[in-house]
Amino acid sequence: MDHFLYRNGELMAEDVPLRQIADEVGTPVYIYSSATLLRHFQLFDDALSPMPHLVCFAMKSLSNVAVLKLLGDAGAGMDVVSEGEYRRARAAGVPGERIVFSGVGKTRSEMRTALTGGIRQFNVESEPEMVVLDEVARSLGVVAPITVRVNPDVDAKTHAKISTGKKEDKFGIPISRAREVYAAAAKLSGLKIVGIDVHIGSQLTELAPFEAAYTKVAELTEALRADGHEITRLDLGGGLGIPYTRSNEAPPLPTEYGALIQQTLGHLGCEIEIEPGRLISGNAGVLLSRVIYNKSGEGRDFLIIDGAMNDLIRPAMYDAHHDIIPVIEPAPGIEPRPYDIVGPICESGDTFAKQRNMPPVADGGLIAFRSAGAYGAVMSSEYNSRLMVPEVLVQGDQFAVIRPRPTYDEMISRDKVPSWL
Ligand SMILES: *Cc1c(COP(=O)(O)O)cnc(C)c1O
Repeated sequence: MDHFLYRNGELMAEDVPLRQIADEVGTPVYIYSSATLLRHFQLFDDALSPMPHLVCFAMKSLSNVAVLKLLGDAGAGMDVVSEGEYRRARAAGVPGERIVFSGVGKTRSEMRTALTGGIRQFNVESEPEMVVLDEVARSLGVVAPITVRVNPDVDAKTHAKISTGKKEDKFGIPISRAREVYAAAAKLSGLKIVGIDVHIGSQLTELAPFEAAYTKVAELTEALRADGHEITRLDLGGGLGIPYTRSNEAPPLPTEYGALIQQTLGHLGCEIEIEPGRLISGNAGVLLSRVIYNKSGEGRDFLIIDGAMNDLIRPAMYDAHHDIIPVIEPAPGIEPRPYDIVGPICESGDTFAKQRNMPPVADGGLIAFRSAGAYGAVMSSEYNSRLMVPEVLVQGDQFAVIRPRPTYDEMISRDKVPSWL
């Protein structure tokens, strides 16, 4: 459920008409619903309530500081994958003890920043990383809390670009070598083992891969404890999928996911961490865009819109589907027709949907891409020298611009011409 619904014939974000945001901020623009973000966070928090737990928002899905503050103030932790994300989380007021640091290529400088600023744990992904982290921690006179990310070799049955838990993926260490790697970690005085980490992929629409992975984590926990390690935390990653179409998809609910965690791992008495991104932010955002031209081709009708692949790259990059709906509710009896919905960028990849059935929208009319809150704005760019897409946060009947659209001068003045030209 989200808070983008028609009321009196037009699409609202909570109690704000999208038309009003388009008039005041312009298009294209991302719009997020605070109530939806909080509700999704709360679903996970409630689902894990029988166990000690922390829900760490995977902020790579949506990293605006205002959104982080909203979730952080509600008690969320953050899963960060870079120094920039770490700094954003801190800027949003999230304390270090609620931040976990993931990622396969953490640099010394990133480790130093997190160790001096405060960190809950590093999810270490390789032996070389472990050795470097130990060195950095000792040079600062501190001890780095760690989990080791294990790769359980399960098929997440999702898009190849977002599958991370098979043995050919670049993530984590093979679970078969875990005991050896934990033994090596235990010998490093700059590290303190606190648990195990696993994350098998994104947009998972079944529980079975989670069950397979978590069952392996349970066995590993017992084995590592028998080896003398203190395993008190299990970080189970993110990845629960969302419905991208209203009609026929029904991915598992956070309650079912929570029950699975309880059932596979509850008996171990560990603190549970999860790192959901998409399920918290995805359906909490829309991309609002305006139709520039209706163009009729040979046997094809195009809707050319002012949003483009630089604003929302998911269709081009992952063949992703987004429901696209008119902001003015179509009158009853209006027949949908097939359109190719495309942006103005000079490549065919700049296509959001082919032969999509839509009610007609006149030139100048507004449309909304649903489920665009996750991996939308964070992946935007200025390709074709289009201005970086702005972001707006709605709460009840208020809204605020949380990332303004830059001016052309601001964009151009970032380039520096060398003195010899
Ligand atoms: C991407 C990622 C997540 C979040 O995945 P979602 O599918 O957005 O829930 C969590 N943890 C790690 C380590 C990730 O790389």
